[in-house]
Amino acid sequence: MNTSFDLNSVIRPHILSLAPYSSARDEYTGHEGIFLDANENPYGSVTEAHYNRYPDPYQAEIKAKLSPIKKISTDRIFLGNGSDEPIDLLIRATCTPEKDHVIILPPTYGMYEVSASIHNVQIDKVSLTVDYQIDVEAVLNAITPDTKIIWVCTPNNPTGNVMQDGAIEALLKGFNGLVVVDEAYVDFTESASWIVRLDEYPNLVVLQTFSKAWGLAGLRAGMCFASAALIKILNKIKSPYNISLPAQQALLEGLSAADKKDEMVKEILKERASLRTMLENLTLVNKVYPSDANFLLVHFDDARSVMAYLIDEAIIVRDRSKVHLCEGCLRITVGTEQENEVLVEALKKYQQNKVIA
Ligand SMILES: *Cc1c(COP(=O)(O)O)cnc(C)c1O
Repeated sequence: MNTSFDLNSVIRPHILSLAPYSSARDEYTGHEGIFLDANENPYGSVTEAHYNRYPDPYQAEIKAKLSPIKKISTDRIFLGNGSDEPIDLLIRATCTPEKDHVIILPPTYGMYEVSASIHNVQIDKVSLTVDYQIDVEAVLNAITPDTKIIWVCTPNNPTGNVMQDGAIEALLKGFNGLVVVDEAYVDFTESASWIVRLDEYPNLVVLQTFSKAWGLAGLRAGMCFASAALIKILNKIKSPYNISLPAQQALLEGLSAADKKDEMVKEILKERASLRTMLENLTLVNKVYPSDANFLLVHFDDARSVMAYLIDEAIIVRDRSKVHLCEGCLRITVGTEQENEVLVEALKKYQQNKVIA
């Protein structure tokens, strides 16, 4: 429990008192009627599909479908244009530029730092330990009176591991700002989501995304789960129609096929295991880190030249070899069975050429 957290002391005062944009359709939520309120084109669209009407600003149908899947009430769900949108909005809601701070735990997802930098917010970095866990004491020591957010990514990108529950609990208890737990890869781990702890911790925010397991990266749709009071504030400051009509339609379709997501996850987990085995059998691979995500962090003898070689072969992986604590590593997304075989064959060829040279 954290009983001393006060949301009003974390939200910027002018945001607390802000009157949101009232959209034309706020006063009438029915589907039938003659809509002459929003200056739309009444005849239809230039495209075959009809996009001439503005979409639901609060995505009620999607939240109604998502609520039983995530076992959380609709007033505690925020949907964004990717989870990158709530990342940005959480900073805007809480951090005064040039004054307030956020804490990030590198090596981690790059957007926390980029978003904070865009808003000219101070970034305090507390390195993960060498085994990629949270250094709780160092994080608690880095908190200042102006620290508003601690960003935690679990399973972490690019290291692939889950953060220990006890460490996140210690941050939630010891910090009176927001602890944002980014669970972009939650579908690929057996660890439970932090959504179930939201009642216990009013300062907890959980992010998830449709971009990974759901296979909907192109739609741009992310989820944020938090107290109803914080969700209200995010709704107040978002752009009014932040999820487009075709994206909302596709999300509705996707949410009816959650079993298909589960099947694909199963397949990806199977492939993750077999890709690991194949990589571990290569002499140019020094280490494949444990992964609770849909990628593997792999340490090579000479990551930079492996990367360059793979690009020549039109195989694109993520170079993390210059990243703190990931020196010499490439991050490889688990592909299809065939893609993984092509990758491993290419690496074998590289290995042979090296021996000959
Ligand atoms: C991929 C990823 C996201 C997803 O971002 P979207 O904007 O939802 O596509 C969020 N957080 C982390 C750590 C990620 O790796």
